[in-house]
Amino acid sequence: RAKHEGRGAIRLFTSAMDQQLRNRRALEQDLRLAVERGELYLDYQPQQGRDGGTKGYEALVRWRHPTRGIIPPGDFIPIAERSGSIAQIDDWVLMEACREAAGWEQPLRIAVNVSAAQFRRGDLEAQVRKALHDTGLSASRLELEITEGVLIEDLSRAKKTMQVLKSLGILIALDDFGTGYSSLSYLEAFPLDRIKIDRVFVAGLGQSERGLAIVRAVIGLAHGLGVPVLAEGIETDAQMSLLLYEGCDEMQGYFIGRPRSLAAKVPSSRGKSLAALHSQR
Ligand code: C2E
Ligand code: MG
Ligand code: MG
Ligand code: MG
Repeated sequence: RAKHEGRGAIRLFTSAMDQQLRNRRALEQDLRLAVERGELYLDYQPQQGRDGGTKGYEALVRWRHPTRGIIPPGDFIPIAERSGSIAQIDDWVLMEACREAAGWEQPLRIAVNVSAAQFRRGDLEAQVRKALHDTGLSASRLELEITEGVLIEDLSRAKKTMQVLKSLGILIALDDFGTGYSSLSYLEAFPLDRIKIDRVFVAGLGQSERGLAIVRAVIGLAHGLGVPVLAEGIETDAQMSLLLYEGCDEMQGYFIGRPRSLAAKVPSSRGKSLAALHSQR
């Protein structure tokens, strides 16, 4: 009897895996068309300075799937990376973020996440040049967020890519700091404009002395290198106060502002042209 149940369990297990695989295949297919169909859009999350003023926004991509609803990037970026449609998505995000930011009333910074694939592709410089040229966004307003993983893959190549990007006049932030394969040696080697403390460390703040020790050490390290620090994932007043006290330069998180569409508040160029279209009728 036990044997029988065991086999049943295995069958159940494999059919669940089948289901998962079919699910992923279907998503991969849909994803290939998502850009063309205009199903992707960007939410923006504010980044706040010590004076309480908004310094910039991080662009975060979302997928409005026709039947599955809104899918967060963590659920489709990895699929896109494996199935080869990431390049198209990356290009779209960079262009769209620059285009929208160029239309903002205030010339704030726009931070765009760069996937490992995009960094490796070799045409990132060309893509950035094109985005800046086509949208008219000034280079000093664009910040690319890269993760540690990107840097250690090929140190000398990564360094070259970063120097080229820096020569365009854009900014570079190190995202999710402390969660990758941290080696402190690259901090000195790369021309970073900002270090983003990952939200796991912010979550640890106020919970234990150790959590505070880590955040304090990261801020001290960054400042020692002359690099400003941004803490992400701030959800409470207490976390915010501690970070301010510890000298953190910028803050981001639900406590300050959730990622949201900016289209309604700051009309985009598409919004303008649509309005123009209507007034012509
Ligand atoms: P990330 O770059 O570290 O982005 C921050 C993530 O933390 C976002 O999740 C954001 O919504 C979330 N977050 C912000 N504040 C809080 C908070 O106070 N509490 C909590 N619990 N979470 C908070 P999201 O939008 O789901 O993005 C997840 C990741 O997906 C990003 O992490 C980034 O690695 C990637 N991603 C997002 N947009 C893009 C994109 O356009 N291109 C690429 N390549 N990756 C992207
Ligand atoms: Mg980011
Ligand atoms: Mg992050
Ligand atoms: Mg992250």
